[in-house]
Amino acid sequence: MHKVKRILVTGGAGFLGSHLCDRLVEQGHDVICLDNLFTSQKTNIEHLLGRKNFEFIRHDVIHPISLEVDEIYNAACPAAPGHYQYNPIKTMKTSVMGAINMLGMAKRCRAKILQFSTSEVYGDPEVHPQPESYRGNVNPIGPRACYDEGKRAAETLFFDYHRAHKLNIRVVRIFNTYGPRMHPYDGRVVSNFIRQALLNQDITIFGDGSQTRSFCYADDLIEGIIRMMNGPDTFFGPVNIGNPGEFTIKQLAEIVLELTGSRSKIVYKPAVEDDPTQRQPNIALAQKHLNWQPTVALREGLAKTIAYFRSIDFASFRAPTPNF
Ligand code: NAD
Ligand code: UDP
Repeated sequence: MHKVKRILVTGGAGFLGSHLCDRLVEQGHDVICLDNLFTSQKTNIEHLLGRKNFEFIRHDVIHPISLEVDEIYNAACPAAPGHYQYNPIKTMKTSVMGAINMLGMAKRCRAKILQFSTSEVYGDPEVHPQPESYRGNVNPIGPRACYDEGKRAAETLFFDYHRAHKLNIRVVRIFNTYGPRMHPYDGRVVSNFIRQALLNQDITIFGDGSQTRSFCYADDLIEGIIRMMNGPDTFFGPVNIGNPGEFTIKQLAEIVLELTGSRSKIVYKPAVEDDPTQRQPNIALAQKHLNWQPTVALREGLAKTIAYFRSIDFASFRAPTPNF
């Protein structure tokens, strides 16, 4: 029988965090979900609230908190550009002070700690696809910097705590991930296109639609994250977790239109500042060390995500930031 662990998931009520909580609760662990509900709502974890091995704490990670845990997954941070640019100073605080507080807790408890980092640490990459050894091309003073530099600083803190205090860390660089429980008004491309298609509204492409992204389905991502946490104590990362299948944003729009059977038409809006032109993970390290690779193709994952979006009432979701 496997050991029951006390596991903290910060940002646990969010899109990815709630899927992770689902998996950990199913595995029988004692799960604490901590979230300030800035970009999420309790409906994501409603089904877990009655479970004996699950509890929810409403708390902001920029403030210290004392808990006794064996493992920490640090996912608390607004992730969609519209969300993290809403209050950029708070975003930087969440990444940096959140990391310091969680690393401090890990140090006190001797807990293992995993950071949800991002492909945004590569900025607008000049190396393609991106290996972990690539140091990136981030504009430190642009509108995405609060997120990109905040996440880069968090990685620095993880490795400094590892060197200074021998903390058992993991750093995962997540590439664009989508699936059920994305906030329908988060402004990200998959949620925007599906919502617009289902409501027969215009599909908004920013720029000419030739920019690329590589989309990973949430279940694949969570599997990779859990494997990394439980992987060898010699492999701390950073490790890319994402799906190398690369698509232009125009291709994505066309696939969403086809799968939804929508009457929406595609419209072109001005490009957003510092928008990365291409992005694709090199996942050789994840394959080698974690024996992990994605299994869900884009059309299959989109079909499941569309089914979820059809099942929700858009009016019951708050739109915390201006949206299209
Ligand atoms: P999300 O917005 O659904 O989840 C983030 C969660 O963190 C939300 O529940 C939010 O309320 C919470 N949160 C934000 N600030 C907080 C604070 N100060 N204190 C406590 N909780 C706070 O987004 P997501 O896509 O699930 O992202 C989860 C993590 O994965 C984030 O750290 C994000 O940077 C990272 N990530 C996600 C993607 C992706 O494509 N989904 C890509 C790269 C990295
Ligand atoms: N995008 C778009 N229309 C939208 C939302 C996003 O064309 O309604 C584009 C955006 O400019 C970017 C890509 O889709 O090139 C991915 O954007 P998203 O916000 O999902 O994530 P990012 O990878 O940029 O953080």
